[in-house]
Amino acid sequence: MAVQTPITRSFSETSNGMYHRLLQEYQALSEISKTLVSTLELEELIRAVMQKIPLVIEYAEIGLVMLWDNSSALFRPLASFGFDQNIISKLGLRAGESITGKVFDQGVAQIFCTPEEVLQAMQDMRPANRAIFSRALQSDNLPLCTLAAPITVRDHKYGVLLLGTISGPDAFTPDDLPFLQTIADLIALAIDRSRLISLADAVREARQAERMRSEIMAVLSHELRLPLTAIQGYASALLLEDIEWSTEKKEQFLRMIDSECKQMEAILRNILDSSLIDVDQLIIEPEPVRLPYIAHQVATEIQGRTDFHRIIVDFPADFPILNLDLRWMKQVFRNLLDNAIKYSPEGGLIVIRAEVNPQNVLITIADQGIGISPENLIPLFEKFYRVRSNPSLRVPGAGLGLPIARTIIEAHGGRIWIESKVGEGTTIHFSLPNTPMIDVEED
Ligand code: ADP
Repeated sequence: MAVQTPITRSFSETSNGMYHRLLQEYQALSEISKTLVSTLELEELIRAVMQKIPLVIEYAEIGLVMLWDNSSALFRPLASFGFDQNIISKLGLRAGESITGKVFDQGVAQIFCTPEEVLQAMQDMRPANRAIFSRALQSDNLPLCTLAAPITVRDHKYGVLLLGTISGPDAFTPDDLPFLQTIADLIALAIDRSRLISLADAVREARQAERMRSEIMAVLSHELRLPLTAIQGYASALLLEDIEWSTEKKEQFLRMIDSECKQMEAILRNILDSSLIDVDQLIIEPEPVRLPYIAHQVATEIQGRTDFHRIIVDFPADFPILNLDLRWMKQVFRNLLDNAIKYSPEGGLIVIRAEVNPQNVLITIADQGIGISPENLIPLFEKFYRVRSNPSLRVPGAGLGLPIARTIIEAHGGRIWIESKVGEGTTIHFSLPNTPMIDVEED
């Protein structure tokens, strides 16, 4: 470290002394600047500068950087020396309060160097702050002399830098103010730079989010176009005047149209649910729910869409009536069964099974489909994630079914996870707290 020789009053006494003083101020500033351009985070940076100050300015026994915090409408300490750090961190000065408030308002560096001046400038300090100040200084006395400079860059006012003495009333002179203001300006530049970096980061993030939104819109439109194209194809075929379709064929086409419409409906419902979740509108309205009944209901609905699969619902007879949100729980079954069908193109069994434990109930939905490779299991619950490894299997979807199911299950206090083997099938497990209802009205 280059500079450790403190500035002393004798510099101003002779021109030689003045030269030395300037030299030392220059060296002190160069030390402080070096700290300020380091890669430390802002708070650490200002702390490091504050630690340097007493090494280069001998008379500075206490120092404080107070920054204006818009959200609390208070000046709060960012860094200090000579105070108990933990205690001084609790200081919160209102606009105009004490030396900080006044120097901030007036925007010029000032010196308060008689006990009367200090007392007058600090007398409006609120008692709680005064108590914090005294405890942090471990003394009921006010500083004997205080220098304060505004921390400002262009039209941005950030706070105030204060230096003080507690043992020598004439330690500072007005000659020290330009030097103090220069240190405050350097601190201001560091704060400004950090503000601009945060601003640039926020703009970059907003742009990235915008780009992602556009990409998502493109993917979703693509996913919706797929069933739409199929519907259009079947409808156009049915409308062809030259061909007389058999009743059987017509029915087959209409069933296809119906199935594609349901696919579209499922995707649209998930997009809507996902946007509700995004704006914190997943409101759980619990009511006594017979989960086996829900499982049967959704299974019947989904079974209606497929002849290749057989859905079996197997709940124990003593399955409790639980306090759940009916609409959202139906959505969980819909999403999971929908996947079980979509990702078992060869058909097969889909079994919904339940188990009752003292603390929770466990539900599993097992299919005999294509399965999922281990590296794809982890991100499955992230929004818009879809496994792309099997290009021949072109299944429409938005990558929202599992994240929505997870949000719903977790909002009920449960957990969801997946086990899978490529080529053998997938089992989704979810748990819900076993908090049965005592009084239930029969429906
Ligand atoms: P979507 O089905 O609309 O793509 P999901 O969030 O429901 O979105 O599922 C995400 C991905 O997880 C799917 O794209 C699929 O690759 C995989 N997946 C989900 N369920 C199964 C399943 N039962 N079998 C195989 N893969 C599945």
